[in-house]
Amino acid sequence: MTNESSSAPNFIRNQIREEIEAGKVDTVVTRFPPEPNGFLHIGHAKSICLNFGLAEQFGGDCHLRFDDTNPAREEQAYIDAIKADVEWLGFHWAGKVRFASDYFDQLYAWAQHLVREGKAYVDDLSPDEIREYRGTLTEAGRPSPYRDRSPEENLDLLERMRRGEFAEGEKVLRAKIDMASPNINLRDPILYRIRHASHHQTGDKWKIYPSYDFTHGQSDAIEGVTHSVCTLEFEDHRPLYEWFLDNLPVPARPRQIEFARLNLNYTVTSKRKLKLLVDEGVVDGWDDPRMPTISGMRRRGYTPASIRKFCEMIGVTRAEGGMVDIAMLYHAIRSDLEDNAPRAMCVLKPLKVVLTNVPEDHDEAFEVAGHPARDDMGVRRLPFTREIWIDADDFMEEPPKKFFRLAPGKEVRLRNAYVIRCDEVIKNAAGEIEELRCSVDFDTLGRNPEGRKVKGVIHWVSAAHAVPVEVRLYDNLFQVEAPDRDRDVDFLEHLNRDSLTVVQGCAEPSLAEVAPETRYQFERVGYFCADRHAAAEGRRVFNRIVGLKDTWAKIQKKG
Ligand code: ATP
Ligand code: MG
Repeated sequence: MTNESSSAPNFIRNQIREEIEAGKVDTVVTRFPPEPNGFLHIGHAKSICLNFGLAEQFGGDCHLRFDDTNPAREEQAYIDAIKADVEWLGFHWAGKVRFASDYFDQLYAWAQHLVREGKAYVDDLSPDEIREYRGTLTEAGRPSPYRDRSPEENLDLLERMRRGEFAEGEKVLRAKIDMASPNINLRDPILYRIRHASHHQTGDKWKIYPSYDFTHGQSDAIEGVTHSVCTLEFEDHRPLYEWFLDNLPVPARPRQIEFARLNLNYTVTSKRKLKLLVDEGVVDGWDDPRMPTISGMRRRGYTPASIRKFCEMIGVTRAEGGMVDIAMLYHAIRSDLEDNAPRAMCVLKPLKVVLTNVPEDHDEAFEVAGHPARDDMGVRRLPFTREIWIDADDFMEEPPKKFFRLAPGKEVRLRNAYVIRCDEVIKNAAGEIEELRCSVDFDTLGRNPEGRKVKGVIHWVSAAHAVPVEVRLYDNLFQVEAPDRDRDVDFLEHLNRDSLTVVQGCAEPSLAEVAPETRYQFERVGYFCADRHAAAEGRRVFNRIVGLKDTWAKIQKKG
């Protein structure tokens, strides 16, 4: 459910509400129309949340329709992944999955209709010539010498194009609109191209494929879509979208509404560029946890709720060129997991500590809450033994003034346990620290030590009971905020070489067996998720979703 009180402006939602209140609209039908040529990314999530959200909000329907007019770039694997992503986000499309290719017969009949009406013609110009004849923003286009073929000749040529009698690029079907229009999209746009390609849905039935523009609005009309929501780059296509509706016997009249696409800093949101990262082996597939794909974010550990919340936070406007701070996304997942992720202790950089006044056979365990505010998360057992692991970063031999962790002669509290004091630092021949010798003040369980203040609390794990875990620490894939802004520099040059660091950690025994995609707060460290692929193979691998510091919350407070 959308929480409107905390939501950013959404002009489309407001507009539809007004239309309903004014009695102009009684049902709402939207659609999400991906092309199955790659995996969905966070930008698509914005469109999904918007389209499915509007349908939910106003008791309407949202269709999932694959915009599959370019068989050369499309694959069944992408169709499957897209369906899985939409469902994982928690949305349900109305009716069956639809394909623009379901409408190829109808679209062809409509193309013939335009030809008969003298509103479309077969052109023999080459692709280069068509481009040249089209003119520029400042210069009108010129009519093709084939523009005035008779409807009979055009019908015959179109039919022969369909039957595969011509080579690719030899002919196209174009609408006959206005070669001098200030809007280049109206300068006799292409309706059909010859492509001798097999299609994932229609097989070898077609030798010609309709253009995006000729397909999209008519598919909306066939499906009874009321509000056809798309990104702003289609604003200039709207007159064409409407021209088709005006000139074809369509069963309904959808309306196109444009909004500003999502741009996220340190991120690229283009399927083509993301595909390049996959194909070049820069990342480990489309669902690499560093990818801004929905499947990558899922594997990283984002929850569907956090992605939906983020999409609500960013709002829907027509303001172009803005860039959303990725800290907002981090904030959305942190605030979800703060409330919903169980706690655990895991040491990422293990340093051995021997507790000299704890006997070898000491047998003690603490029962601590799975979550400080959630009784439903039960308790976990933390065995306490003579040897423990602490994080190497929680010790300094020569600490600066405000270092409230462990140092020679200093005390610190072990989280959920006793206060210990560091008595001795043991080094190897190379002068590296091998272990610490500490002593426990047994009088400090759940209370402050007599007469001293101990400020620091550190996490720890019993060495005898620790379970080894692989921990993958992720950082942004790109080093700069707008990796693809500068057209002269390859966006790959901005890759962050340190976007993945793998460490071998020691975790408390409650993490011995974890189901895929279980999320935890590793206390004092961050939020982590059991990698779904590794966990399915019985390996303990945790992906860092996000650290604990929330810069976005700070920015908001300063407001
Ligand atoms: P890409 O450039 O990544 O290939 P696309 O627009 O070509 O994106 P489609 O599969 O056609 O990919 O997109 C499906 C829907 O998602 C479209 O309605 C499109 O407008 C929307 N969409 C794509 N990218 C974004 C984005 N960054 N922000 C919001 N909506 C987006
Ligand atoms: Mg597209």
